[in-house]
Amino acid sequence: MIAKWVLIAMALLGIAISFPASAEVRVFACEPEWAALAREVGRGHVKAFAATSKRQDPHHIRAKPSLIAAMRRADLLFCSGAGLEVGWLPILLRQSAKANVQPGKPGHFLAADYVKVLEIPAVIDRSLGDVHPEGNPHVHLDARNMIPLALELSRRLAAVDPPNGQAYAEQADAFVDNWSEHLTGWQGRALKLNGLPVIVHHKSWAYLIDWLGLTQLATLEPRPGIQPTPGHLSRLLRSSRLRPAKAILRTPYDPPEASDWFSSKTSIPVLKLRYTVEKTGSKGSLKALFDNMIAQLETVTTVVDGDK
Ligand SMILES: [Zn+2]
Repeated sequence: MIAKWVLIAMALLGIAISFPASAEVRVFACEPEWAALAREVGRGHVKAFAATSKRQDPHHIRAKPSLIAAMRRADLLFCSGAGLEVGWLPILLRQSAKANVQPGKPGHFLAADYVKVLEIPAVIDRSLGDVHPEGNPHVHLDARNMIPLALELSRRLAAVDPPNGQAYAEQADAFVDNWSEHLTGWQGRALKLNGLPVIVHHKSWAYLIDWLGLTQLATLEPRPGIQPTPGHLSRLLRSSRLRPAKAILRTPYDPPEASDWFSSKTSIPVLKLRYTVEKTGSKGSLKALFDNMIAQLETVTTVVDGDK
């Protein structure tokens, strides 16, 4: 038996006291949205860790030791794929040497493999710095994609944790029922957003734009991943006079200078949309994410109506 003072000393030193092994499946999610989905489908059986936060650009993350350690503990890896994490995920996989989450294993789950990927280029060319050579990887922003992903996630969870397979299947079905109702509501609201002309900083929003029927007029980046240049911005300024956008969309992690400058020249408002969920708390729900983004877009359609 461990003496009480030893336990107190261990607690003070921050040493983990080992209790009987928990049956929780540990999910390593590259982005917070996948941790949120894992918590929904795996409720009660899953502990999800998000490698990035909403303030971090998921294209560019440092493969730091804490992430390698987290991957070593993982039973299931859940990431966007389509090259979004190409700069850091392969390093984590190699350095962690965790066998069950390597490509090809049931514990290696990439969202882009289960949904329709948009903007796949005819010719793959990274030489100009394009960060989307495999197509657009920001697949979570079409809310419809959550349905096939929830179902596949339940199968992956069942594969790594067979005793709870039934629970995962039931929770995924419940999620799908619920989500389908939300989709109906959001798509009803999207009727008023149809055709809304927007400019985006980076092509982070391709799936949201496709799903809600917005019209993307231009990107402030001359190519995905290349920061805006003065020449590109002045060309956009000229074309914007002919066909002005109603909003400039950027994520919380995009550098603000170009969109703020463009807004100051054109009076087009900048919408800093959430892009993903908070790691925890009430802003951590996927439903809240889409509710919030649509509500923000609705603020500029009011202006559209007022123009008429
Ligand atoms: Zn991107």
